[in-house]
Amino acid sequence: MVAVGVAVGVVVAVAVGVVVAVAVGVGVAVAVTTTYRAKGLGSGLAPFLVGGHMTTFHRRSTLGLAAPNPAKLAARTAEELHDSLGLTIHHTGFGGTLYKPDPIARLRGIQAYHMETLGYGDIAYELAFDADANVYELRDGKYVGAHAYGSKRGGNTPNVYTDGLVYLEDARGWTRGGSIALNWCMDLFGLARQGRHPHLFAHEWWSVTACPQSYLIDVVRFAGGSA
Ligand SMILES: [Zn+2]
Repeated sequence: MVAVGVAVGVVVAVAVGVVVAVAVGVGVAVAVTTTYRAKGLGSGLAPFLVGGHMTTFHRRSTLGLAAPNPAKLAARTAEELHDSLGLTIHHTGFGGTLYKPDPIARLRGIQAYHMETLGYGDIAYELAFDADANVYELRDGKYVGAHAYGSKRGGNTPNVYTDGLVYLEDARGWTRGGSIALNWCMDLFGLARQGRHPHLFAHEWWSVTACPQSYLIDVVRFAGGSA
């Protein structure tokens, strides 16, 4: 009789523990999701939990970037906004003249290169992310991006149907932080596009280019994207 009593006590304790754990998990998820939706795109989303890990969203206003030049930017049509397909992934290369250990200083350098040397109206990409799970808000998605030209997929015109996403890579290559940030960007796209899950593309899907690196092409393929 004593042995049976102990056994029952253990079963009850385990059952209570599971119920408490589930309740806490649901509570956190609902609170985070509600905050995220209430604040909307680009309105101070950081930090946000993905799979129990934190990512940090940096608003454009905190990056010290130059103002965009509207005279060199084209607004997306309503159809182009509605039919947006997803995200095209680029890499930056590790090293070279545009590399800076500080990712924000690096983004300023990339923007200066795009605007002053290439003649774009703004930095080419809508978002950047890095190996430490940071996400950076860049070009406003209401404008056509300058990040992928469709020479392999018809014509040599800007790809108006995807947003550009650039990985600020470093010597670590692909990291857990990069994976967390990429998933966060996909969630952000889904929320901004009426819940539509984004399709991922590698830059070389659209254009004759070596961008991005082979390990990033593997990431795109692993996610069911086009490369
Ligand atoms: Zn690229």
